[in-house]
Amino acid sequence: MDRLVNFSAGPSALPLEVLQRAQSELVNTNASGMSVMEMSHRSREFERILVNAQSRLKKMMNIPDSYKILFLQGGASLQFSMIPLNLLQTDHKAAYLITGSWSKKALLEAEKVGKAKIYASSEENGFKSIPSFSQSALSPDTDYLHITGNNTIEGTRITELPDTGSVPIVTDLSSSILSERINVEDYGVIYAGAQKNLGPSGVTVVIIREDLIGRASKATPSMLDYATHVKANSLYNTPPTFGIYMIGLVLEWIESLGGIDELEARNHEKASFLYDAIDQSSVFSSPINKKDRSLMNIPFTSLDPDTDSAFLHFAESKGLVELKGHRSVGGMRASLYNAMPYEGVERLVDAMKQFEKQTV
Ligand code: PMP
Repeated sequence: MDRLVNFSAGPSALPLEVLQRAQSELVNTNASGMSVMEMSHRSREFERILVNAQSRLKKMMNIPDSYKILFLQGGASLQFSMIPLNLLQTDHKAAYLITGSWSKKALLEAEKVGKAKIYASSEENGFKSIPSFSQSALSPDTDYLHITGNNTIEGTRITELPDTGSVPIVTDLSSSILSERINVEDYGVIYAGAQKNLGPSGVTVVIIREDLIGRASKATPSMLDYATHVKANSLYNTPPTFGIYMIGLVLEWIESLGGIDELEARNHEKASFLYDAIDQSSVFSSPINKKDRSLMNIPFTSLDPDTDSAFLHFAESKGLVELKGHRSVGGMRASLYNAMPYEGVERLVDAMKQFEKQTV
């Protein structure tokens, strides 16, 4: 089969086993006599699919009963607005840790809703590291601190959380959910677009602590109020049914491999293998502070746009695709989400070594 090694940052490669299972069930899902795409979202059969995805996620991430799991639409980008619309009270503040383009976008939306301030930022050094933060910098009228757990474009990740006391931390885990073990109770809200580690685009997972639900002002449109979706268990309106079904299959696949802890070990192995190759290379280097390097998105560059472009062509001729860095940073970026096998990284490292021999 001619499947390419797909290093896309998102939507990204899905496990072949999951795609094949979906293919085999596409016209008759779970022996229901119809495709999941043809089912009423109010049917018993679909409810089973929804509950299956929720309960597998709850078990896998150890989500306590005091949190609700929602499957919404509008991407992670809509959460940039929903978070302040639901959590930011009039005359209070929200704090934002600015670690890349996505956190800047999140801040921009919060500023439209109310008062939002920068907690710390690494913009000055081009987001090559996670900024250091003073532990006690939050005033008591701060409703939440927003962070971006993994910075998809810049290739950094947050490994240490600030001590915010009773101020809830809201984290955007779009590009790292299920890649490593996290303690859900460290957060008030966790959200992630599905299209990297969870399934196809079109679904956004929101995990929210109960006491943060029901705080939106009366003027908040029903569709943007978490309380609406919690009350209806993600069935207020037609949810992204196919995406939710696919998330269930991806979770089953992760269970079959041994769960998050196994994936975390694999992700460390894959990322170290590539970082070592980059650090030892005479052509390529990583611009990112070692301590803050992402396991999921690995940017590297030769520092010469023509050489980068020649490498991208060389890699593509070997079936290694979607390695071009984000247009805002240039160079290369390899995204190694859960579905990327170790062999895919080996093929990339081989290609880098061959290219180096030709170039030096
Ligand atoms: N946050 C992060 C960290 C992302 O990587 C992305 C998408 N790449 C987004 C937010 C935006 O997600 P969406 O396209 O689902 O709105």
